[in-house]
Amino acid sequence: MSVIVVGEVDGNDVKEISQQVAAVASGMGDVIGIVMGKGISDAAMKLSTSKIIIADDEALEYYDPVKFTSIVAQIVNQNNATKVLMGATTMGKDLGPRVAAELGWGYLGDCLEAGNEGFVRPNYAGKVLAKSNTTDSVVLSIRNNAYPAGESWSGSVENFSGEIPDSGLTTTTIENVGAGTIELTEASIVVSGGRGLESPENYDEHIRPLAAAMGAAAGASRAIVDAGWVTHSHQVGQTGKTVTPDLYMAIGISGAIQHLGGMSGSKFIVAINKDSEAPIFKVADYGIVGDLFEIIPLLKSKLEN
Ligand SMILES: Cc1cc2nc3c(=O)[nH]c(=O)nc-3n(C[C@H](O)[C@H](O)[C@H](O)COP(=O)(O)OP(=O)(O)OC[C@H]3O[C@@H](n4cnc5c(N)ncnc54)[C@H](O)[C@@H]3O)c2cc1C
Repeated sequence: MSVIVVGEVDGNDVKEISQQVAAVASGMGDVIGIVMGKGISDAAMKLSTSKIIIADDEALEYYDPVKFTSIVAQIVNQNNATKVLMGATTMGKDLGPRVAAELGWGYLGDCLEAGNEGFVRPNYAGKVLAKSNTTDSVVLSIRNNAYPAGESWSGSVENFSGEIPDSGLTTTTIENVGAGTIELTEASIVVSGGRGLESPENYDEHIRPLAAAMGAAAGASRAIVDAGWVTHSHQVGQTGKTVTPDLYMAIGISGAIQHLGGMSGSKFIVAINKDSEAPIFKVADYGIVGDLFEIIPLLKSKLEN
């Protein structure tokens, strides 16, 4: 039984999330990896699957839903695959449902568990976990950090020989306006700030440098996004992004249910809040009750040393 993994590359490497997905898929059958893009061949070969099909073409420089969907569907049909897996990344969340629609399959998004025993996904902002079983062919996206990445090794490599359709869509440039160079949903550390910061200047002065010093992505509560301090691309929560880093720092954030829905799956949560009754402390592994304007400079100076 063949299982397809759609891999993503980042610079000279395969994204960590794609190696995690490859590890999940290895328990489901013979795994064929697909990597699409321009100038990605060397990086693509690092995907930990027993066979790798590389579609390296000028026309695939930027993610194009029509072209990428068609390539994945062609490879599925050529190999009689029964499952397609990918990371629940920005691309994966768009591509997964499209591939499912193209193949006439079902789609299970943002899985926390996926295996021969079934699939577990959070519903209602993480308040319930839904377990599903299916004997039908299915497309799955797997949440970042739900599984450890497999050992890095590469198998046989083939170039994609099918057709790349015209899509009528031309992407000319990609401008990064996100939460920084590290994508929030894929970061292993997220440092988020909330209304306790009091002003957008304080977000720039305290959260961004702390995040940079820790190699983290900078997140935010909705309160400060709505106030226009930072763009929506930083927002964590029910109506923002779901993050599952190894470490999540909530600074001056009260911990409203809608915020918790986007970050309570983080492996380790640290909260800094001057109110000892703040709900964020209910989910925090470590809590510091105190004034963020005193604690952050202390933390930064420790990190600098
Ligand atoms: C339909 C819906 C969807 C929503 N979606 C989201 C979402 O996706 N994400 C999200 O975040 N919210 C969301 N919200 C909003 C949510 O309910 C809260 O209003 C919001 O999360 C509050 O943001 P906050 O914690 O920054 O602000 P506040 O609740 O005002 O909390 C500020 C915190 O800072 C602390 N503080 C103040 N000064 C200091 C200091 N000097 N040092 C340390 N601590 C200090 C305070 O004690 C307080 O706990 C949604 C709401 C609705 C109704």
